[in-house]
Amino acid sequence: MLLFDTHCHLDFPTFDADREAILAACEQAGVARILLPGVEAAHWNRLQACCEGRDGLYPALGVHPGFVAGHDRSDLERLDALLSDGKALAVGEIGLDFWVGRETEKEQIWWLEAQLDLARAHRLPVLLHVRKAHDQVLKRLRHWQVPRGGVVHAFSGSTQQAEQYLALGFRLGVGGGVTYPRAKRLRGQVAQLPLEAWVLETDAPDMPLCGCQGQRNRPDLLPRVLASFASLREESEALVAKILWKNSLELLSGAEGAVQQPKRSPGSQ
Ligand SMILES: [Zn+2]
Repeated sequence: MLLFDTHCHLDFPTFDADREAILAACEQAGVARILLPGVEAAHWNRLQACCEGRDGLYPALGVHPGFVAGHDRSDLERLDALLSDGKALAVGEIGLDFWVGRETEKEQIWWLEAQLDLARAHRLPVLLHVRKAHDQVLKRLRHWQVPRGGVVHAFSGSTQQAEQYLALGFRLGVGGGVTYPRAKRLRGQVAQLPLEAWVLETDAPDMPLCGCQGQRNRPDLLPRVLASFASLREESEALVAKILWKNSLELLSGAEGAVQQPKRSPGSQ
């Protein structure tokens, strides 16, 4: 079974002490690919360095809506240049986050639109971070029509909004949230929407699984997200893993040759 963690901040310093051990655990667990989303310009180099020379780790680059303050137009130019080398699999994470407040609403919108322009120019998918702003983001996606769609990370919207994203060529990222019995709406969507709608993620070190609250989340726990997901659908983990792996590759196939067959040979669990 092969799993793709489509959203994991493995470059964060919290993993400095045991990153290699976690990657070894990922290999055992079948987590063969991990996409590391960019958050702020100051850490793009760190993120790229973390992926460099490691099989199965891929960078995405972008400015997260919660971190727009402190960025300026020169960062956008630098992002444009970095995306030109063909190594990043996606532009992200980008979006609107009105849950953290709307003080930076104008800047958030500016960065979202500017980065959607880059996704079009570089023909890259986008990783979306959206909280309390799905309709505002959907409106822009309809207008921008990014050619390769993307992932709505940690999807938190209504079923109607989910269907609108799917119609625009997006897939929904599902992570630790699905392991919580109280997440009734999300669990209903997991049971109801087609398998083709979904990709897996951990958002590690954030979004701890049910029972692990207060602890650092890790990408090698992705099989537990898969297990919750499959049990809600009453489908086998093997079937779900196969389709979600395919969904991830279709979306995040990268520049020419960037993603071929997995080079690692994960365990058979
Ligand atoms: Zn994230």
